[in-house]
Amino acid sequence: MNNNPSDGYLLILSGPSGSGKDTIINEIVKRDEKTVVSISMTTRKPRPGEVDGVNYYFVTKEQFEENIKNDQMLEWAQYGDNYYGTPKAPVFKWISEGKTVILEIEVQGADKIRAQYPDVRTMFLMPPSIHVLRERLSGRQTESEEEVNKRIEIAKKEIGRANDYDYIIVNNRLEDAIEDALEIIFRHRRHLRRSLNNEPDKLEEFYYGHQFKEDFTNILNERGI
Ligand code: 5GP
Repeated sequence: MNNNPSDGYLLILSGPSGSGKDTIINEIVKRDEKTVVSISMTTRKPRPGEVDGVNYYFVTKEQFEENIKNDQMLEWAQYGDNYYGTPKAPVFKWISEGKTVILEIEVQGADKIRAQYPDVRTMFLMPPSIHVLRERLSGRQTESEEEVNKRIEIAKKEIGRANDYDYIIVNNRLEDAIEDALEIIFRHRRHLRRSLNNEPDKLEEFYYGHQFKEDFTNILNERGI
C-alpha cells in the first residue's frame, strides 16, 4: 500500500458513537465517486433497519475469530462486548484502483492501522459537546440506557485521543462538517496526484475548516478588526 502507484489512499474516520460518522460518510460517497467505504465485520446484533452486507457483515464470534486466524483482517478491535474489524481484500483492491477508501473505525483500530501504514490519513469527528452526544444517542432509541451510558464513557476516552488524528472536524452543523471532510479528501488526492506526476507541490496545504474559521473570525471581531 505504501508503494502504491495510484492516487488511491486509506482514510480513517473515527469519532464517538453518535457523533454523526455514518451520515457524513453517506453524503461523501454520494458526492464523490472516487470515495468508497469499507464494510466492517462485527459480532454485534443488527439494529432495526440494518442490512447484512450493507451496514456490516454480521457474523458470530467463532466466524470472526476464524477470520483473524486466517489473516483476513486489516485490523480489528473489541468495542464494548463485541468484535469489530475491517476485511483486508477489498481495501487493497480499491486502493490499487485509485479509490479513497474510508474506514469508519474506533481509536484502537486506528492505532493499529497507523502503526502498519504510516501513509494513512486520519480524521476525528468531534461532537459539539458530551451533552449533545448523549441527546443524539438517546434520541435514536436503538440502545438501552445502560448501553448509552457505556458509549458515553467510551466517548470521553476517545475524545482524549483526538489530537493523534491529522484533522479534527467539529460536527456542529452537518453541512459544514461534510464540506470540511470533502475538502480534506480532495486536497490529499491532489497532493498524491502531483507527487505521482513529479509536479511541484507545497505538500498538502493545511486546511483549517469551518469551525476553525469561525473561531478565527470571532477572535478577529473581538479585536475589532
Ligand atoms: P456501532 O456499534 O455504533 O455500529 O459501532 C461501534 C464503534 O465501532 C464505532 O466507533 C465504530 O466506528 C467502530 N467500528 C465499526 N467498524 C469497525 C471496524 O471495522 N474496526 C474497528 N476497529 N472499529 C469499528
